[in-house]
Amino acid sequence: MLGAAVRGGKARPTYVPMSEWARANVLSVHWLERDKTVELTGRGSRLTFNVESRSDARRAQINGVQVWLAFPILYQNGRAYISQTDLSETLGPVLSPPTNPRGINIKTICLDAGHGGNDPGYQVGSNDEKKYTLLFAQEVRAQLKAAGFNVVMTRTTDVKIQLEDRTAIARRNSADLFVSLHFNAIELGRNEVKGTEIFCLTPAGATSTNARGEGDTQWVTGNRNDEKNMLLAYQMQKSYEKELGIEDRGVKRARFQVLREATMPAILIEGGFMSHPAEGKKIFDPAYRKQMAKAVVDGIQAYKTIVKGPEIPQKGTKKTK
Ligand SMILES: [Zn+2]
Repeated sequence: MLGAAVRGGKARPTYVPMSEWARANVLSVHWLERDKTVELTGRGSRLTFNVESRSDARRAQINGVQVWLAFPILYQNGRAYISQTDLSETLGPVLSPPTNPRGINIKTICLDAGHGGNDPGYQVGSNDEKKYTLLFAQEVRAQLKAAGFNVVMTRTTDVKIQLEDRTAIARRNSADLFVSLHFNAIELGRNEVKGTEIFCLTPAGATSTNARGEGDTQWVTGNRNDEKNMLLAYQMQKSYEKELGIEDRGVKRARFQVLREATMPAILIEGGFMSHPAEGKKIFDPAYRKQMAKAVVDGIQAYKTIVKGPEIPQKGTKKTK
């Protein structure tokens, strides 16, 4: 543990001084705006943290990608403190990514088209979310197959699938990743609110990004993949931004049932707001869904490349000149 621990809040996380963690990791610290925004740079990385207000103190940027911390940055007597949980579960997986054992590759992707049957999801005019999650999943499937992946779908028609059955399908088919596809909508501020959010499971003991007084914060099955969940979510958000230039609402944490019960690394993509006039129009457009699907495939490819373990040397092969 670095430095003195500061304890506070319901979940009582352990905090460490940001400057000490930065020094130990050969990152230099400077204020972009004194007492407001602090930046850490070095080793090809640029991290930005807000210390100004409670509402903003969970919003961070890792190499230009917005990421919501599990706990707010604390700022006391001119020093910034970051939670140990965020060092190990948020920054760690991105800065020092986990790798799979030798020879283990990402081959099978389970695509989960959100909602279906008598559960339409969000409804904007005559447009049901369930229809567009399925069309989106079908496009992602086509592109993943073309890229050489095996694809398992939790549904291929307009039927209701129980949440527990969605992760069971992934498990039965030995899926390496679980990717749930959704679209957002909002009542108030529909002309302003837009952009993409990528969710991964909240670490044990932490509160979800959008939660108000969340109850149980115990360890659940999905927490076994905390590091890879975060890495996949980060790479997906990064790919979305790069591919589509869409507003980055950030990597967020939630305890959605599919994320809690997934036995493999899992994320839930909120691919944009159907309620926003311009963004909705795009989501309903097959050409744009093709582009979005490419962002998903590129995000999976980036993750696959990063976690790839060392090659198994071919038996009996000799090096030739
Ligand atoms: Zn949904």
